[in-house]
Parts: sequence; structure tokens; C-alpha cells
Amino acid sequence: MATYRAVEVAPDGGLRLTERELVPPGHGQVRIEVEACGICHSDSIVVHPHDGQDAGRVPGHEAVGRVDALGEGVSGWEVGDRVGVGFLGGHCGVCEACRLGDFVGCTDQPYTGVHVDGGYAEYMYARQTALVAVPEDMDATRVAPLLCAGFTVYNALVSNIQQPGGLVAGDLVAVQGIGGLGHLALQYARALSLRVAAVARGTGKRELALGLGAHHYIDSKASDAAEELTGLGGARMVLATAAAGDVSPLLGGLARRGRLVLVGVSSEPVRVSARQLIFDAVQVSGSLTGTPAQNEQNLAFAQAQNVAPMVEPASLDDVQSAYDRMMRGEARFRMVITV
Ligand SMILES: [Zn+2]
Ligand SMILES: [Zn+2]
Repeated sequence: MATYRAVEVAPDGGLRLTERELVPPGHGQVRIEVEACGICHSDSIVVHPHDGQDAGRVPGHEAVGRVDALGEGVSGWEVGDRVGVGFLGGHCGVCEACRLGDFVGCTDQPYTGVHVDGGYAEYMYARQTALVAVPEDMDATRVAPLLCAGFTVYNALVSNIQQPGGLVAGDLVAVQGIGGLGHLALQYARALSLRVAAVARGTGKRELALGLGAHHYIDSKASDAAEELTGLGGARMVLATAAAGDVSPLLGGLARRGRLVLVGVSSEPVRVSARQLIFDAVQVSGSLTGTPAQNEQNLAFAQAQNVAPMVEPASLDDVQSAYDRMMRGEARFRMVITV
């Protein structure tokens, strides 16, 4: 029987290479021959430290590849189509959220690489409703991080622009955290005609941030970032991308009716006062990627505006060390497995 190589979570929470049997895709699914898959901080949901129940899971939700087999009931996709799969593993179409048109909120939607096997592999399986059409002329290692990290910040910015009273060209946006998400957010925000302030600790990322499109750089170690933002007129939006730390102090740097939007999953709670909510009319929210069709708009935008991740390559044989580099914050900025 034919097999393929995959990297799975070991019982001790580490990552190990394994062989899987190549089986036909299930109903409504396609099988994908993987070209590349990004390593994302959210992969830590199933990778060490964990409680053992995730052993055997193949992580990875920034996968690019080609449809290699169609399951029963699949329509609109053909063998050979170039596709991507992001964090949301495909909506069901029948739950209450889906019937209300909230596909992101589908209550029967697996998270790729968390509830179902993901893209740290030569092949993967995905619901057809998860598939993102990927342009033929975009490099797989460039597309992979755009499917989750890029899409997350793109959609947080665009959905704010589309809201009543939302961002308009020239508005000040602060991007907190210049890492895997933040280095892309600077590029997207600049390309969306916003005024961009990068906020990070220390001066190490200053030149890089300015080179990626930031108009201003704020060293939150050397100065009070909220005061600096207020000095620039106040941010209409703060996009918090770091996966650790307390972002509450940045609320003080918002303009009236400004929005703090979280996309980095930090364990620190956000502390917002009644005074800030009532008198400053600030808003606090989070943003969880979006639909596959919106992801296609994201890829088209990134392609047209030359938004590109900074990528370090990895292979299935060295996923553990690549993952460790990502978790230690040593990668500049996205590790991508090429298969
Ligand atoms: Zn991710
Ligand atoms: Zn549903």
C-alpha cells in the first residue's frame, strides 16, 4: 500500500516523523499533495506542552498544495487545482451559525492541525469548504504564511475599514509586536493607505519596521507607547499581534472611538475601565481569520501590493528544530516547511 511521510505530535509532546497510509478522501473532502506549510504559533495548541491527548495529530494550518484526489460529493474543484488551507477547516453549511451566514462561527468546523490532521506532511485531507484557490504564479513559501498570519491581520484591518465609522486612508494605526503577524501587518496597513506606527520593545526591529512600511517606530521599552501614540494624534486602531504580554496600557494611546483589536493570543487579560469605554468610547475586540473567499481576496491584495512574508525554510526532517526556533522567537519571521 502507498504511504506518505508526515510529522505528528509524539506522546511526550515533541514532533516526530511518521508514515501514514494514503487513503481516498472522504465524502466532501479532497486530498492535497502538499507543497509547503508554514509553522504558526497557534500550532502550540497541540504541540508540547500538552496533556497527551493530542499525540498522533499532524499540526499545520498554513498549507499550500495541489488537489490530488476528490472525495464523493465534491463539486467546483478539480484534480490539479492549486489550493491552500488555513486555520478554519471548512464550515458545515447546516448549523445555525452557517444558516445565519456566519461561516467563521460554524459550530461544526474543525481547526486544521488541531482537530484534524494538517499540513506538516506530504499529503493532507481537507473539507472542500476550507479550500482557498491559490494563484499559479505565487511562490508556495510566500503563500503559506499569508494563509493564516497574513490573512489574520489583513482581515482585522479590512473589516475595520468596512465598519461604519471605521478606518479611512491616512488614519493612524499602531501595530504592536513586530514578529510573524506584525511584520506582515506593517506591510498590509501601509498598502491600505494607512499611517502606520510600529510598537515594539527595544530598538532592534526599528530599521526593519521602517523598511517594511512603518511611518513611525515606538520603542515601548524606552518610552510610554500610549503617550507616544497620543502625541501622534491618537491611534484609530491598535492591532495587537504579540502572543504574550499585557496590551491594556495601549488603550491610552487610542483616539476617541479608537479600537483595540487583538489577533495575538496572549494569556493576559485586557483591562479596560468604564471611563475608557464610556467617555473615550474605545472598543476592544478580537479577530479570527475569515472565510476562504475572503482569503482569496487577501492573496490577490498581497500579490498586487507586493506584501510578502520574510521566510526561513525548513523540511519535514527538521520540523522540531524549526518549531523550537519559532517558539523561542528566533525565526525571522515565518518558518515554512517545503515538502
Ligand atoms: Zn496560524
Ligand atoms: Zn456550520
